[in-house]
Amino acid sequence: MSRYHELLEQLRQAFPAPVSNPVHDGYVVFSLLKALDRVDALKTQAPILGTPRLPDYAAAGLSQLPACGSSLEEVIPELVRCLDGQLIFGHPRSQVNVVAHPSIASIIGVVLPSMYNPNLCSDETNLGFSEAEVRVAAMTAQLVGYDAANAGGLFTFGGTGTLLYGIKIGLEKAIPDVFERGLQQPAVVLCSQQSHYAAATAAGWLGLGQQSVVRVKTHPNNSLEIAALEVAFRDAHAAGQRIAAIVATMGTTDAFGVDDLAGIYGLRERLIDELKLDYRPHIHADAVIGWAWAVFNDYDFSANTLGFRGRTLRALAATQHAMQHLKLADSVGIDFHKTGFAPYISSLFLLRDRADFSQIVRDRATTPYLFHSGEYHPGLFSLETSRSATGVMAALANLLLLGREGFQTLIGHAVEMAELLREQIGARPELSVMNDQNYGPVTLFRAYPRGTDTFLVKQREQHDPTYREQLRQNNELNRLIYERVHAEAMAGRGVALGYTGEYRTADCGEPISALKSYVLSPFADEGRMGSVISHVLAAREQLLTSS
Ligand SMILES: *Cc1c(COP(=O)(O)O)cnc(C)c1O
Repeated sequence: MSRYHELLEQLRQAFPAPVSNPVHDGYVVFSLLKALDRVDALKTQAPILGTPRLPDYAAAGLSQLPACGSSLEEVIPELVRCLDGQLIFGHPRSQVNVVAHPSIASIIGVVLPSMYNPNLCSDETNLGFSEAEVRVAAMTAQLVGYDAANAGGLFTFGGTGTLLYGIKIGLEKAIPDVFERGLQQPAVVLCSQQSHYAAATAAGWLGLGQQSVVRVKTHPNNSLEIAALEVAFRDAHAAGQRIAAIVATMGTTDAFGVDDLAGIYGLRERLIDELKLDYRPHIHADAVIGWAWAVFNDYDFSANTLGFRGRTLRALAATQHAMQHLKLADSVGIDFHKTGFAPYISSLFLLRDRADFSQIVRDRATTPYLFHSGEYHPGLFSLETSRSATGVMAALANLLLLGREGFQTLIGHAVEMAELLREQIGARPELSVMNDQNYGPVTLFRAYPRGTDTFLVKQREQHDPTYREQLRQNNELNRLIYERVHAEAMAGRGVALGYTGEYRTADCGEPISALKSYVLSPFADEGRMGSVISHVLAAREQLLTSS
């Protein structure tokens, strides 16, 4: 036997058997178990796997392809080593950011397409997975209030991708044939100051330029000022600029601010009439975080059958009240990997009217080899050519696993934990909640030096130019508190919090930072929320005493 035949024989063992072979299937599962066993050995009580460590990029940068391979048994530990120092986002003491703890079902949803590798470019060879994409789009369309018979959806490469699709389709409506002829005319994107920078990414990539993103002023509750949007709209029109899209942020990244979508919709309708526009500026709802609150659209808040506490109920109702208007948007972005308990990447771009996809269809003749049979051809209009089914299957898994009630329970619990935290912060004169007019799972708060009037300080920091130096010092105090609390959490004590360097900008231009508790883990509990406060206060005390 030639050397290569010998090697080939060995290598075949490293692949799942293409035909029934229960013994070898056992080896596949056992190998996965071995990897998980090794991961288990990295667990302690701390919200981190293994030990905190610094990356060694210098060594990593010298890596070379080995001349000979290794056995699967040798590769597994190498892979598991990558988890050393990894924060466990599902840990009840991990509250750093909007990161999902994936359910078992969603993990299986990722594993199956990983083994059979369907390409969702078209349905030719993977009917079931294509059906799954249509199924998830229909369920989610119905959830947000769209008429599922007309709506259409497509999974893409993240919330950023959903914004790219929304703005692109809007741009085609505003300036027909950009797809074919390129951009010959200025166009703008209107969104709020608190919107995600992904809108600028999309504008940059689409050739509109980042400068064409007009970021409109927000209210103290972090929602876009409709009056300021009207001014921006009129200004753009007067300057001869087309409006590629108005982006409504339904749940901002740091503060969970929610825009008034009904107000934005009403404004657009009024200005189309008044200015006699020959197109309808596209409204894209960036609901990658907030979409999940639509599960409360039919919740009976007075009966409260799930038994949430009064504060929680009020918070959930406030968000649902805004989220019920999602159906007014022309398109919606949804991240199952944020508030849908799915692994990265699972992002759905939904159109109220799927015929809008016609705006971005390439000429059929240019890609005939992909689309000569079957009926479902997202590849005709998707930016991606090869399209993974992992995000689709993870989303489907969770929609089935949780149902409306399961989502209500998990989202409700996250908000309940945030409300508990806010109650406790409210009882401490040294602390203040920054986003007290936002009712989500995230709490932004700041600690202040001794003698600060925490009732007045927020106003002064935001508006008083003579307070600039003190604002800077307060920012510094909170940054140091964050570092201390974070280091302790990594050592197994306390809670890993997040930090935002600029959750809002003061009138004087100085950033206002905040400590951040983002609760999403189903494992979060009341006791853990209390220890957030005690650790922050202890760190504050140490810093103020030592300085
Ligand atoms: C996270 C986020 C995005 C970007 O989504 P990705 O999935 O990270 O690409 C866009 N908008 C908002 C409001 C976000 O929070």
